[in-house]
Amino acid sequence: MDAATVMQRCEALSEISEVQGFLVRPYGSDAMYKVNEVVAEWMRGAGMDVRADAIGNLICRYEGTGEGTFILGSHLDSVRDGGKYDGPLGILTALACVERLHDREERLPFAIEVPAFADEEGLRFGTTYLGSSHYSGAFDERLLELEDRDGVTLAEAVRAFGREPESLSGTKSAPDDAIGYFETHIEQGPVLEDRDLPVGIVSAITGLSRIQVGFTGSAGHAGTVPMDGRKDALCAAAEFVLEAEAAAKAEPGSVATVGEISALPGAGNVIPGRVDLSLDVRHGDDTVRGRLRDHLEKRAGEIAAGRGCDVNWQVRQESVAVSADPHLVGLLSTAIKDAGVEALQLPSGAGHDAAQMASICPVSMMFVRCKDGVSHNPAESVEEEDVAVAIDVMGRFLGLVAEERRGR
Ligand SMILES: [Zn+2]
Repeated sequence: MDAATVMQRCEALSEISEVQGFLVRPYGSDAMYKVNEVVAEWMRGAGMDVRADAIGNLICRYEGTGEGTFILGSHLDSVRDGGKYDGPLGILTALACVERLHDREERLPFAIEVPAFADEEGLRFGTTYLGSSHYSGAFDERLLELEDRDGVTLAEAVRAFGREPESLSGTKSAPDDAIGYFETHIEQGPVLEDRDLPVGIVSAITGLSRIQVGFTGSAGHAGTVPMDGRKDALCAAAEFVLEAEAAAKAEPGSVATVGEISALPGAGNVIPGRVDLSLDVRHGDDTVRGRLRDHLEKRAGEIAAGRGCDVNWQVRQESVAVSADPHLVGLLSTAIKDAGVEALQLPSGAGHDAAQMASICPVSMMFVRCKDGVSHNPAESVEEEDVAVAIDVMGRFLGLVAEERRGR
């Protein structure tokens, strides 16, 4: 299978959405079931066995001649109005590599497993890595009580899929003999484009905290409650949003974002009594991230108190920063140089399933250049020639791992 097919398949999957006209594929949606069916069919065509695990990850396997499993994963869910390549590119390039082996009737000295994770973006429940957390055996059962916008809990969403939510924690669906994990993903930043390189090696993945912050004040008539006596939850939230920006700027290398906000009761002539917002804090150093998070928690309390409001601070998720495995990075560098490309290393400011997978095996990642560094946006774009390089490098990389395993 060539890069043109990968491009066509990314295109085809982008049509499978919850909303007509743009891409929205949240966890547990009909679009996710549909996309899993389509991908499963392609995987079977490449000689792979296909199954789904308890959280709805699609797990595809190409057996090898010896012990051990090398995992090539990424995700198939999307953000709201997302792009075509964030996630699917990793799955479809992995499929391309397996298809090439299958066409040549070749088996490696280890099995290849391709898990297509059912939730990485956290669009529905505000928590990332749901899919890879179960696959790697790190699922936190407290997450089962989280509710989506319609009040459906994660436990109910899992049941709707015909699975037992109780079976998610304390078990893993990844194989016991995992020897490594590799993920291809679009860069989502401008570095490779600036350096005129088709691909790059990820040196480390940022740590992140996702927090739900609620300000509760007192709703009242916009015309009759004087300015002095108000407990305006939205004013408190507004002050907090700017505080998050200022605090992140004061802590070099960190980023803090409020990306979602809702005000209740949500009427033009009523003082907002309740505001909920999301806070996303990241840094490559976990100590710095923790310091910034704690500072913002303290400030949220102070801002709320200063306005007679209450604050509720709920940490929904924390992931530690993860370094790529030096040995796999070495093999990947060789594969990239062998393909005639400079082997540039760069850190990832975005979270990836590889971060979760690091708890069970050595991990590595390759970025593919994307246009203008744009992602999480329908304008997301990659070049077919770059995808061709990515498939070539993945094939060489697997070849180097195979060589090493044979030589043991
Ligand atoms: Zn992604």
